[in-house]
Amino acid sequence: MSESLSRGRLHPDHESEYRALYQRDRDRIVHSAAFRRLQYKTQVFVSVMEGDYYRNRMTHTLEVTQIARTIARALGLNEDLAEALALAHDLGHGPFGHSGERALNDEMKSAGGFDHNAQGLRVVDFLEQRYARFPGLNLTYETREGYVKNYVRSGQSGRPRTLLGFVADESPTLEVQLVGHADEIAYDTHDLDDGLVSAALSDEQVRSVALWRQAEEQVTAEYPVLKEDKRLRWRTVVRRLIAMLVNDLLAETRRRLDAHGIHSVADVRKCESELVGFSRELAPRKLELETFLMDNFYMSPRVREMTALWQDRLRKLFAVYRADPTKLPEEHRRRAETQGDSLDRVIGDYVAGMTDRFASRQWELLVGK
Ligand code: MG
Repeated sequence: MSESLSRGRLHPDHESEYRALYQRDRDRIVHSAAFRRLQYKTQVFVSVMEGDYYRNRMTHTLEVTQIARTIARALGLNEDLAEALALAHDLGHGPFGHSGERALNDEMKSAGGFDHNAQGLRVVDFLEQRYARFPGLNLTYETREGYVKNYVRSGQSGRPRTLLGFVADESPTLEVQLVGHADEIAYDTHDLDDGLVSAALSDEQVRSVALWRQAEEQVTAEYPVLKEDKRLRWRTVVRRLIAMLVNDLLAETRRRLDAHGIHSVADVRKCESELVGFSRELAPRKLELETFLMDNFYMSPRVREMTALWQDRLRKLFAVYRADPTKLPEEHRRRAETQGDSLDRVIGDYVAGMTDRFASRQWELLVGK
């Protein structure tokens, strides 16, 4: 994606003399409050309860970003854009991970529910207030398009791109497509790491996954010392898995670009099938790994117990604000009064912006004891 083809920003804005268009998007994202809050938001383990060692949404985001940049550079794509997209990809997540998202979605039914992608777009277009000249971060169309990656072109089944205000009959750029896969590569591998180190997963369990076995056989053949040192072995296997996934993605994406005769951004936008992706050999093995993580880690009693607790607490917190909106900060309350946003939407925006730590403090203050 060349900057000269950008569709620009939502509001009139001047450009920098020495910072490129997407580089500036990246800088605005890193300086935002929503980005800083990622450090106290749950990825899998609830950060307020499980200590500081495991991934949170900030460290996850940084891992996604470096994988995305590697892929963008190897494919000759726009590295600045890939970086901005990756840094922004989880800004719409609320506290307590996916269980928090479920609580928000249930509580916000009257306001159309909650979806972290749509929320991410609200954050960068509207909720961040840092500039006198415009609301939000005023990012370019191409960076904002990251939030629409799970939305489909017209004619396909799923939520349409037009729901978020994007052009109906085209596909997202290669940069948007690759960041979606960099996200998967990051969590598929770092969740194995966190699962093993926390003892939520065992060696025996992860060896039921074909990709893990293959990577483990390779690295222990190369470095026999790894048979004795399990921590070093886990780290080496995880690193090898990232390389295997990235290498497959690069080879398969090059094959698809070639097969579809893709030479320009216009070709990408016109092409109805996904151009960045994994090979037919690897895709089912990656799915096996993801199913394993779902059944044995995300759904494990240790993770579920904690997330169910906080899901319930978030609902109660929501109910307190609904019953007595004066408990909301004034700037949020004013939005419900002056901008026509429903009370549930305003509460949802406020709660979704909370870190795990802040939400748990509010719960103690307003509900707990
Ligand atoms: Mg992510």
